[in-house]
Amino acid sequence: VVQSYIGGRYVPSSGPLFATINPATGDTIAMVETADAALIEAAIESAQQGFAVWRTFTGTQRSRILMQAVRLLHERNDELAALEVADTGKPIREAIVVDVASGADAIEYFAGVAPTIHGEHVDLSSAFGYTRREPVGLCLGIGAWNYPLQIACWKSAPALACGNAMIFKPAELTPLTAVKLAEIYTEAGLPDGVFNVVQGDGTVGAALGTHRAISKVSLTGEVGTGRLVMAQAASQLMAVTLELGGKSPIVIFDDADLESAVNATLLANFYTQGEICSNGTRIFVQRALHHQFVARLVEKASALTVGDPSLPTTHIGALISADHTAKVRNYIELGISEGATLACGGAFPEDPELARGNFVAPTVFTNCTDNMRIVQEEIFGPVACVLVFDTEEEAIRRANDTPFGLAAGVFTNNLARAHRVIAALDAGTTWINTYNITPIELPFGGVKQSGVGRENSLAAIEHYTRRKSVYVELQPVSDPFE
Ligand code: NDP
Repeated sequence: VVQSYIGGRYVPSSGPLFATINPATGDTIAMVETADAALIEAAIESAQQGFAVWRTFTGTQRSRILMQAVRLLHERNDELAALEVADTGKPIREAIVVDVASGADAIEYFAGVAPTIHGEHVDLSSAFGYTRREPVGLCLGIGAWNYPLQIACWKSAPALACGNAMIFKPAELTPLTAVKLAEIYTEAGLPDGVFNVVQGDGTVGAALGTHRAISKVSLTGEVGTGRLVMAQAASQLMAVTLELGGKSPIVIFDDADLESAVNATLLANFYTQGEICSNGTRIFVQRALHHQFVARLVEKASALTVGDPSLPTTHIGALISADHTAKVRNYIELGISEGATLACGGAFPEDPELARGNFVAPTVFTNCTDNMRIVQEEIFGPVACVLVFDTEEEAIRRANDTPFGLAAGVFTNNLARAHRVIAALDAGTTWINTYNITPIELPFGGVKQSGVGRENSLAAIEHYTRRKSVYVELQPVSDPFE
């Protein structure tokens, strides 16, 4: 039985048990104990104790411990990747190089930043002022199920580097790796209580997200959940960072490098079975290139291997759950009934070995129009929609015609146009001539309904510290009423 991890150890709870299921086989991997009310309080108390210790560490001391965690993550890369594959259904060929490594990158980056966090000095002639950059206190991290370990690292790294304590609630569907990160932090020397993991569903998230001891919440999840979490946070005036959904555009001009554009489109739609928030699922292709582009995209998408995610030859693994798979399959049927052309995919693998898992073949729709639901709504599966455009102005207008604004990409070999179009697109994270590359050094996040705030880069430091202004008088104080 998997439990919550509080104060440097696993702690039992009387809350109900739930199963975590391998999406590729339908088998139960483990039973997990939901945190009950007493455990949630214990997590808060433990985090307060951890915070009281951790905030007294210098940046360099914090950095040293975080770097130990980086070393342990790399050492355990393969076993953690295998666990993530079992819990999420994503292919091992991805998890072995991306999930653990990109989480470790975040901790390494913020370990480097920790000793450099400082306030400012302001000369005021007969006085001076300075600002202290202080940790905000107890932070709550709430994760989605698509990159469970990476999300736990992306949220905890800046929080801990700045001297905060974090309570992390993984998605109920993927509870296995956040507690492994907690074990690693403990082994690395992190004081007990600085990183606690509390298991359970959204009600556990809501109990923490309305708790007066919490100063900040960072959520990765759907837009609807983002609204709930922000409303809950308002009850305590908690600061929020929200990394939400998207329906991001890729605009491909007819002077683009065809092979790069096709490869990036594959990456932007079929990596992690399409379960990536920043995916470029509305692909606008300029008319002269459209036919060639679709032919090559369909050829390459059809050649991808769908199947057992634990095999290194598999490109497309299993979707997270039977419910989510039903939702994705419904969208495919909807696309057909809305009049889009199913250029490839749509079918479910015929191999009887795969019948128990949640598999959907990479699917490309062409002849899409902007008003179709498959073009407007986030599907979060391996479904790409190709649209045709004629002019730059038209492409920008149509690309921006969405309530979302997480990401966007432009493909062109015209330097001026590339920068002009990127500047005009309403999105927080964008690429020119590539897609979905998210180095820790660059801010990541969305605009419009795709989010609030930024993760990664120095921008995250703003969200995990607060400034205290200190005015220091150097002269006697005169009587104000004399
Ligand atoms: P959900 O919004 O369903 O859940 C996200 C997390 O919030 C889960 O841990 C969930 O718990 C928890 N939760 C649900 N209700 C509440 C509540 N009232 N208070 C506090 N916590 C709550 O998202 P998914 O897990 O389904 O993830 C998919 C979504 O995440 C997609 O929309 C995707 O676009 C988005 N996403 C965004 C990313 C970004 O960085 N912008 C990156 C990755 C995904 P539980 O599920 O256990 O009930």
